[in-house]
Amino acid sequence: MKAAVVREFGRPLVLEDRADPEPGTGQVLVRVEASGLCHTDIHAAHGDWPVKPHPPFVPGHEGVGVVERLGAGVTHLDVGDRVAVPWLGWACGRCAHCLSGWETLCHAQKNTGYGVDGGWAGSMLAWADFAARVPDGVDPREAAPLTCAGVTTYKALKVADIGPTDLVAISGVGGLGHLAVQYAKIAGATVAAIDITDEKLALASDLGADIVIDARSDDPAKVLQSHGGASAAIGLAVDNASFATAYAGLRRGGRLVLVALPAAGSIEIPVFDTVLNGTSVIGSIVGTRADLDEVFALHAAGRTRVIYETRPLAAVNDSIREVLQGTVKARIVFTP
Ligand code: NAD
Ligand code: ZN
Ligand code: ZN
Repeated sequence: MKAAVVREFGRPLVLEDRADPEPGTGQVLVRVEASGLCHTDIHAAHGDWPVKPHPPFVPGHEGVGVVERLGAGVTHLDVGDRVAVPWLGWACGRCAHCLSGWETLCHAQKNTGYGVDGGWAGSMLAWADFAARVPDGVDPREAAPLTCAGVTTYKALKVADIGPTDLVAISGVGGLGHLAVQYAKIAGATVAAIDITDEKLALASDLGADIVIDARSDDPAKVLQSHGGASAAIGLAVDNASFATAYAGLRRGGRLVLVALPAAGSIEIPVFDTVLNGTSVIGSIVGTRADLDEVFALHAAGRTRVIYETRPLAAVNDSIREVLQGTVKARIVFTP
């Protein structure tokens, strides 16, 4: 099988021929049908973050495919089942975080496409307990973006704790943002979508955004305040300055949810305003297995639309360039 491999940070990925890996105890071998390109994969390939992966590695944490072989001890999956292999590849199941339904905070977790090889390949390994079943009838090319972009924004909106009377700002309408707009609408909120390209703003409107804000020409904070301020702002733009802008667009009692992870990202929070306004700033990391099941169930029920373009794995380096240039409709999905 072919695998797209990061051999060195910041260098083009190399397409390699590899043998199928052997599933260990508790693992399955998955024949990959579709695998999304998340901006996180680009951060990984560039070594952008303080905790770095170790080249050589295969990125990809939106891998969807069919179980082909079972490792020892796997009893709840069968050969032929379609599964999704998310960022949370494995967690210990015993720590306080795992036991309280926050396995995404487990200190011992292994991350797909980062700490262990991911889905930009013809086949991959998954721990059976962390591979999500994809419901019948859901196209694997649509399941792929839901596996990270979907579950991450679904969870971010849960922690933002919004309802039908809230104005929610979605900052960045890329792979994550195009799903965030839809989950905020499903929650009944009024949605203000912010981006910097005409295509993304048009897409946001098409997906149900009530207000669109072009951050090139307008100050998102001013526009949000002219509507009374946002109850929550979800930071999905790979631009450090966008967080402070989203913060400034909040109403009193508002919640800024940090999701995007630009290199060396940081935000300065004015203590006085934060205290007097009762503002919360919350970090949100992907979503749990239960969240992903809910995301798939919503999609199977026809409640969400996944906007994607397919590419062969051989186009991996051009695809990364396209995402960085902002010319991708929403998500690129590789079909190895
Ligand atoms: P993407 O490139 O598909 O989307 C980013 C969007 O932000 C684009 O539409 C771009 O036009 C827009 N943008 C850029 N500058 C902007 C600005 N100043 N204001 C408004 N919009 C702007 O990326 P993605 O795959 O959606 O990922 C977004 C970020 O989220 C990445 O940093 C990624 O690593 C991170 N991420 C975090 C988690 C998590 O669990 N916290 C999970 C997945 C991805
Ligand atoms: Zn991701
Ligand atoms: Zn744990």
